[in-house]
Amino acid sequence: MNIHEYQARDLFEKFGVASPRGKMASTPREAEIAAQELGTEKIVIKAQIHAGGRGKGVFTNGFKGGVHTCSRPEEIREMAAKMLGQTLVTHQTGPAGRMVNKVYVVEAAEIAKELYLAILLDRASSAPVVIASTQGGMDIEAVAAQTPEKIFRESVHPLLGLQPFQARKLAAALGLHGPQAAQAAKLILALYKLFITCDCSLVEVNPLVITKTGEVLALDAKFNFDDNALYRHPEIVALRDFTEEDPREVEASKYCLNYIGLEGNIACLVNGAGLAMATMDIIKHCGGEPANFLDVGGSATKEQVAAAFKIILSDPNVKGILVNIFGGIMRCDIIAEGILAAMQETHLPVPLVVRLEGSNANLGKKLIKDSGLAVISADSLADGAEKIVAAVKAQAA
Ligand code: GDP
Ligand code: MN
Repeated sequence: MNIHEYQARDLFEKFGVASPRGKMASTPREAEIAAQELGTEKIVIKAQIHAGGRGKGVFTNGFKGGVHTCSRPEEIREMAAKMLGQTLVTHQTGPAGRMVNKVYVVEAAEIAKELYLAILLDRASSAPVVIASTQGGMDIEAVAAQTPEKIFRESVHPLLGLQPFQARKLAAALGLHGPQAAQAAKLILALYKLFITCDCSLVEVNPLVITKTGEVLALDAKFNFDDNALYRHPEIVALRDFTEEDPREVEASKYCLNYIGLEGNIACLVNGAGLAMATMDIIKHCGGEPANFLDVGGSATKEQVAAAFKIILSDPNVKGILVNIFGGIMRCDIIAEGILAAMQETHLPVPLVVRLEGSNANLGKKLIKDSGLAVISADSLADGAEKIVAAVKAQAA
């Protein structure tokens, strides 16, 4: 799960991560009032979307940049009017971009130096790692690719946590001395505490800045939370913004389905994550592209299967469906009943290949056959994948 920058800044405040004051606004007038209340000479206005690269982003109406500095509240109002309700495209949003529903109005920091700081879970070492670079600002991916020696990593012992000496080492790697090094070390330790307490999988501060008056401040914030730990954090779940998420995934989460939307056109409905991944692989192997990952699990009900089927059918990209069930705990007749329940409300607009094997497979096959639904049946995973790819190609031709 992700949150917006303005929400992340509230977490910064709670954990003592130094950051400029700011206010969220959802209308131009609110933005103007926020700017008046801040009362600083220079004010920054930032589009709030769940994607980075806003600074260099372009709105679909041609307006450039999702981050601007202004000096008068009226200017902030005008700027907010140009951003709110518009779609911002950045290198992280994809060509469709994201609708801007909120802006963040924040006191401008006078930047002397832009640095980079992030904490994430490193799969290779199975531990949190703090990443820092003197090359902060907008393009850390380019720094990693072209000058990897400018990126410092400090691995953290998962039980002992980040030690003060490690934070000082990172501050030194960032080229900081004296009071600035102390401020940076304090900020890094506070950020680590936040990362662990909130069960984050990533916190990224780009840029972390040194101001002209010598302060160390977090100027941007990107968070990812571990979905499996969200049950421990109702206050974080409350920050979820459904308008930023894939509507297919939002619907699937209501039915506790393990669904991930993808770009292809062959939908799959499978039981078991491993089998679901194998199914996606074999679809690709046969020359197709999966439209989703979907594991209905071992104990899905008829209602969950029906909901899953409806989510698949509501996706306009879907040109074919492959149902691949290896019944163990899951019974094939439940799957068949779920599919038939979904079909009562709609017709089948695309080819459907079904492979049922294991518990109650014959009963499941009989239910589908008796329903008169136009189903292509398959005997094995390979057979099913070949048949659905062929059916989708035949339809397109
Ligand atoms: P991103 O492009 O989505 O990552 O958005 P950022 O929040 O990182 O903003 C992009 C850039 O805008 C930063 O790298 C800064 O150079 C600039 N910026 C953001 N906030 C401020 C600020 O308070 N003062 C000044 N002078 N520049 C800012
Ligand atoms: Mn940034």
